[in-house]
Amino acid sequence: MDLPPFRNEPPTDFNDPANVAAMEQALADVRAQFGRAYPIIIDGERITTGATIASVNPARPSEVVGYAASADVTLAQRAIETAHRRFAEWRRVPVEQRVELLLKAAAAMRARRFELNAWIIYEVSKSWAEADADVAEAIDFCEFYAREMLRLSEPQPLYPIPGEDDRLTYIPLGAGVAIPPWNFPLAIMVGLVTAPVVAGNTIVLKPASTSPIIAAKFMEIMEECGVPPGVVNYLPGPGSSVGDTLVDHPLTRFIGFTGSKDVGIRIFERAAKVHPGQKWLKRTILEMGGKDTIIVDETADLEAAASGVVTSAFGFQGQKCSACSRVVAVEPVYDELLDRVIELTGGLTVGDPAQRGTFMGAVIDERSREKIRWYIEEGVREGGRLAFSGDAPGDGFFVPPTIIADVDPNARISQEEIFGPVLAFIKARDFDEALAIANNTEYGLTGGVYSRSRERLERARDEFHVGNLYFNRKITGAMVGAHPFGGFNMSGTDSKAGGRDYLLLFLQAKTVAEKL
Ligand code: GLU
Repeated sequence: MDLPPFRNEPPTDFNDPANVAAMEQALADVRAQFGRAYPIIIDGERITTGATIASVNPARPSEVVGYAASADVTLAQRAIETAHRRFAEWRRVPVEQRVELLLKAAAAMRARRFELNAWIIYEVSKSWAEADADVAEAIDFCEFYAREMLRLSEPQPLYPIPGEDDRLTYIPLGAGVAIPPWNFPLAIMVGLVTAPVVAGNTIVLKPASTSPIIAAKFMEIMEECGVPPGVVNYLPGPGSSVGDTLVDHPLTRFIGFTGSKDVGIRIFERAAKVHPGQKWLKRTILEMGGKDTIIVDETADLEAAASGVVTSAFGFQGQKCSACSRVVAVEPVYDELLDRVIELTGGLTVGDPAQRGTFMGAVIDERSREKIRWYIEEGVREGGRLAFSGDAPGDGFFVPPTIIADVDPNARISQEEIFGPVLAFIKARDFDEALAIANNTEYGLTGGVYSRSRERLERARDEFHVGNLYFNRKITGAMVGAHPFGGFNMSGTDSKAGGRDYLLLFLQAKTVAEKL
């Protein structure tokens, strides 16, 4: 099977009136489908229960985007047992056929780009551009992992012993669980499903409870593209019962997760326990939070720095684990940078993301809004100065972009992930101190440096301890293939989604030596 080299899916050009018209049409079409019910899918069978999860539009919480059937413990057990049974067949399906499935899914998402954008805009309140990037990344994951699987199914290099035929092949693990987040409700979910599936594993997908509908759309696409029953099972439900059951089950072979640190640790601990009848040590692929810092020194292009900070801090309301939540600026440029960041932030539009040109929509839910508000108050209680707080519409889960200046590097808002549009400004004496502050959290996901000093950039390359480091550019928007993504320390297992090491996490190597 010969595929053209991987290339990233281009963004939709919303300066083109034809694309604007198509996007507006898709928003209207999707809106007309609000309020439908989506069943659980196990082994291809549609199942409804008495319980449902109402997925609402965060910008207008009275609008129900859709109702997902909510599973229970018994269905969770049935789902993983089904996935385990179906693994026996799926692992034998020729690799080209599994690759073909991903390529078809990529093509289907390309064809339904505007529609998928619209579901994301309504379900999690992404702007047009952010939703469009989410879909592009989902397509990229399919195209990239398809090619990776072909590479890994070729003969692997060894140093054979004379007189022997020595071979190493990668074989799949078994039935796994995918627990994706709501913040990249298509891209990360697609990555957590398609990587294991193309590698020959089967999956129980437990979508995030605030974004089950876009996951149902992807399930629809997978079925249309011919995924056999039981290879991907769709199982919305509460993390505390359904999630735990899936993680604990002795037939679960691996868990792929992206989400908060607390849930990641919970999964890690639970997965470590070996249950009666379990024949393996479970593998966990856990991507957790970040407390991501941009350093700006006195040699930096301050205009570029200010704009990179604003995009990184407030894109999708700061709800990215990669988002910039701390700026550490050296003393000589601190005030000037802060002023410029405030000025640019003041120009951001906050409102209904279905409107073209809105930069920030609502945050995901009420709980999240309350938590973010609490952190803003706490930041001021701890001695920070409220330097900027923008306007936000009244109804809907809106939080305005907020900047807190003169923050102590050890304050809570400097240490804990807020996952909202809150940016802390911290002053450092010099570059040395800035680097020390940047490394002073338990996380290690993304980071950035704006500087024209080659020597300092090289020091940061070596000493800034994060999985994804960016120089003189924004720190969000990692591209599949170019920026394999994942972090250190409490940011997770550094699993590098979109990179050449990723599929190996869902495979095990088998060596066969034959005497000739
Ligand atoms: N990969 C995304 C980025 O680079 C962040 C993913 C996340 O927030 O989980 O912005």
